[in-house]
Amino acid sequence: DIRLDGISHSYDDFEVMRDISLDIPKGQILCIVGPSGCGKSTLLRFIGGLERPTSGRVLQMGEPPEGCLNPLTYVFQDFALLPWRTVSGNISLVLEDHGIKGAAAQEIIDDVLARTKLTDFAKALPKQLSGGMKQRVAIARALAVKPAVMLMDEPLSALDAQTRELLMDDLVDLWTRQPFTAVYVTHNLAEAVRLGHKVVVLSRRPGRIREVVNIDTPLAERETGDADLETAQ
Ligand code: ATP
Ligand code: MG
Repeated sequence: DIRLDGISHSYDDFEVMRDISLDIPKGQILCIVGPSGCGKSTLLRFIGGLERPTSGRVLQMGEPPEGCLNPLTYVFQDFALLPWRTVSGNISLVLEDHGIKGAAAQEIIDDVLARTKLTDFAKALPKQLSGGMKQRVAIARALAVKPAVMLMDEPLSALDAQTRELLMDDLVDLWTRQPFTAVYVTHNLAEAVRLGHKVVVLSRRPGRIREVVNIDTPLAERETGDADLETAQ
């Protein structure tokens, strides 16, 4: 688990967020939803350790998962794939960063490509893939380092509505077969309600917790097809 304890932040006189305390439960998807500028990406940077809040703490509790290479891994809206590397090559690159090569790397690559339904595209270049597939590659790459928490910043926002629907189904499927822990940031309430075990609603600046909703319905049993109807204000 990761615990956020009283996080407040200002850039000079500009107050971005106030007193955010939260638990990120292991094996669950925590969705953070709120309007543009309420501090969602900033909060992810605090969790990922890329930046420090003015006050408050991010506490890591418990051991990282077995085989964890990188405890906190990002998935971004723009996929961030290297265009000259194949699907496999994009994943092997992060494994090389951790000294994993050859057969050991291949085993991990085969596993994450199978989990994201990309096995047949291992040798494709990013430009040969649709947007949804590129994002699946980015998710596969994040899974390859067996993170304790995946930090997902609006991962579907660059995709059209239909592809978003498909990707949400894929994420549900992926999680159902092998649960992972994620903080999933979106400005789309319906997306949060479809994917979150817990949904945290932030208010407009300064970002504060307006509501925390636990959703008990298993991900696989939730309704689909309404992700465009509601958007958080
Ligand atoms: P969006 O939905 O548009 O992605 P967000 O909720 O992710 O928005 P953040 O990017 O976290 O919002 O930004 C929160 C606020 O902090 C914004 O008003 C932004 O302009 C400001 N901000 C972010 N980073 C910095 C920085 N390095 N210096 C000054 N202000 C910043
Ligand atoms: Mg953002």
